[in-house]
Amino acid sequence: EEVPAADGATYDVTSPASGREVATAAEGGAGDVDRAVAVAAAAFDRGVWRRQTAAARAAVLDRVADLLLKRQEELALMESLCSGKPIRDCIREVLAAAGYFRLYAGLAPMMTGTTIPVSGTGLDLTLREPIGVCALIVPWNGPLAIAAKKTAPALAAGNAVILKPAPPTPLTALELERCAREAGLPAGVLNVLTGGTELGRALVAHPGVDKISFTGSTRTGRDILKTAAERIKRVSLELGGKSPNVVFADADLDQVVESAVWAAYWNCGQDCCARSRVIVERPIHDRFVERLAARAARMVVADPLRPDTELGSLISSQQRDRVLEFLAGVRQRGGRLVGGGEVVRGPGLEAGNAISPVVVTGVDPDADIAREEVFGPVATVLPFDTEEEAIALANGTEYGLSGSVWTRDVGRALRVAREIRSGLLSINSDTSAYPEAPFGGRKQSGIGREQGLEGLYDFTELKNVYISDD
Ligand code: NAD
Repeated sequence: EEVPAADGATYDVTSPASGREVATAAEGGAGDVDRAVAVAAAAFDRGVWRRQTAAARAAVLDRVADLLLKRQEELALMESLCSGKPIRDCIREVLAAAGYFRLYAGLAPMMTGTTIPVSGTGLDLTLREPIGVCALIVPWNGPLAIAAKKTAPALAAGNAVILKPAPPTPLTALELERCAREAGLPAGVLNVLTGGTELGRALVAHPGVDKISFTGSTRTGRDILKTAAERIKRVSLELGGKSPNVVFADADLDQVVESAVWAAYWNCGQDCCARSRVIVERPIHDRFVERLAARAARMVVADPLRPDTELGSLISSQQRDRVLEFLAGVRQRGGRLVGGGEVVRGPGLEAGNAISPVVVTGVDPDADIAREEVFGPVATVLPFDTEEEAIALANGTEYGLSGSVWTRDVGRALRVAREIRSGLLSINSDTSAYPEAPFGGRKQSGIGREQGLEGLYDFTELKNVYISDD
């Protein structure tokens, strides 16, 4: 049932690109959390979903995938309007969301256990069971895809879900719930609450929430972990990143440059996996910087709704100012900005929150721009001389989410890949983030793994059962 906020509060959703109002959303608060948790817990306790066979749950998830695909253009438009992301990326995001539902429809019957030859004479076996009420809190940079990568496995495992999208991007989460309802998900199993930080806090603190799966900033993740400690809640955190792109001189420069622009600037760099620290072997450093800047300058920064737009708008004026502040800091400390780094305005970009992609060089590896997550279209290039130095630079941040290594020397690729402390790593490719494979961070980039079978298990509790043969 769709209801207004308990206290009737609403907020305006505006396009960060044009500044125009897009929608009005309910501003949920603690009272709404109480209602949603009560509904979700009742649905879980009644067993309307968790007691269905895995095949029956899979069939519903499959239908959700069909409905998302059927409505891809409408959903992509909503996403683009709310987030400022190019429409073609938003279409890809809807396809990815449908893909998660398809994947977990297939994996629902894979909640298998083991039989263990214990010292008793009976039979020992393990069961994977749903956890209960799962709160899924998602950010604005990949709203539907991230919502889907959490919701699909949580539902596949038989849990009840409360999904909280980020304030700028509430619409596709609401549509996802509508698709799930139409697909035959029983009432109360998937609940969506829209609102901001206070709502998120209330959700995390609520005693009826058994698990929190969060994607967002490291700062918020730390808060969530502290609150969750009170009741030993299950927590998965997918947090920030500052991922390295290590380029050796023997790599195919054309291929690396083409890959590096997307790895650093895709979604205006508002990507937790962005390879925003490009670590380049000294003999090719200057040539690489020149080529990267030239390629970046050709990127189409324009109205997100135009089909040929490659980079749209940042999410807000605050985010734009934060990026510009980082760039001002580079100039003050004698670093160099090669091309870009300017505010772009134009039709569809009236709000002035778009920034052209920029390459930063001549900075110390300890500089803020080289270590902190900027979440803007900024690639910082650092030179290195030896393999050891490349590894040290790659590991020189508090984050450990993803990264790439480019070399034709297989032995070196393997040595470096093994030494980089990250949850994901790609060799001669700009991504290793595939829905079928585990995804997650080390160090300050998070705890737990999403996607693949691990992502399903993350929404289960393991129970050991011993059956006596007496
Ligand atoms: P954020 O932490 O500000 O907000 C994320 C979500 O948490 C939003 O829904 C927000 O309303 C909610 N929230 C905020 N404060 C809360 C609190 N105290 N308790 C509970 N919920 C709260 O992050 P953001 O700015 O929306 O997203 C950007 C961040 O997300 C970046 O740091 C980025 O790296 C990270 N991110 C990580 C991944 C990953 O998989 N590792 C993927 C995408 C984004």
